[in-house]
Amino acid sequence: EKITIAIDGYSSTGKSTVAKKLAAELNYIYVDTGAMYRAVTLFAIENSCIGDTDNIPGLIENLPNINLNFVPNKELGFSEMYLNGKNVEGEIRTMKVSREVSKVATIPEVRHKLVEMQQQMGKEKGLVMDGRDIGTVVFPDAELKIFMTASANARATRRYKELLDRGEDVSFEEILENVQKRDFIDSTREISPLKKAEDAIKFDNSDMGLEEQFERIHDFALR
Ligand code: C5P
Repeated sequence: EKITIAIDGYSSTGKSTVAKKLAAELNYIYVDTGAMYRAVTLFAIENSCIGDTDNIPGLIENLPNINLNFVPNKELGFSEMYLNGKNVEGEIRTMKVSREVSKVATIPEVRHKLVEMQQQMGKEKGLVMDGRDIGTVVFPDAELKIFMTASANARATRRYKELLDRGEDVSFEEILENVQKRDFIDSTREISPLKKAEDAIKFDNSDMGLEEQFERIHDFALR
């Protein structure tokens, strides 16, 4: 019997790494909702709706022109984000986007559009979705909800390694600051704030390797 699995939590807790592996193992679909907020943010930056001066009404007006698609990449073994027909998987992970994404994610019209898309994608069971509001708003009836946490330091260290691997020129301090700032905005915003769903399992992975995390969560999924 297939189920819906919601994985929420703070920035850079490794949600997507675990979610991806879990989905592959269970033969489920994996959806990274952060990628959707990031793609809208990239669109906003490219169209001068976010930047030195923000034009939020302009972004809202343009929402119907934002086409998002997850396109499976067989070689990589997961889907990549396409924005209006262009592969933006690399670009949405840069600091340029990370700096602005949490602001864009506070806009109710943006959330409505993306939540609706996410609910459509989850119409059929057999889905692992990660984000901030999956267990609370998108799929409040999900059979399994995980809430991931880790110390800010552990999270920034992971993010730092990732960005260095991708050749981005960033400092550890900048990343730590970004992770903390996003967590603050995400958990204090008025609409769908980041918080643990009452029935979610809290999972702190500060001192846990990927294998151990995966094994434990996999066990929850099979219970
Ligand atoms: O998961 P990721 O770190 O890529 O998400 C980027 C940002 O998108 C988050 O910091 C948050 O502001 C926003 N987000 C959200 N709701 C989701 C997923 C992401 O508000 N379900």
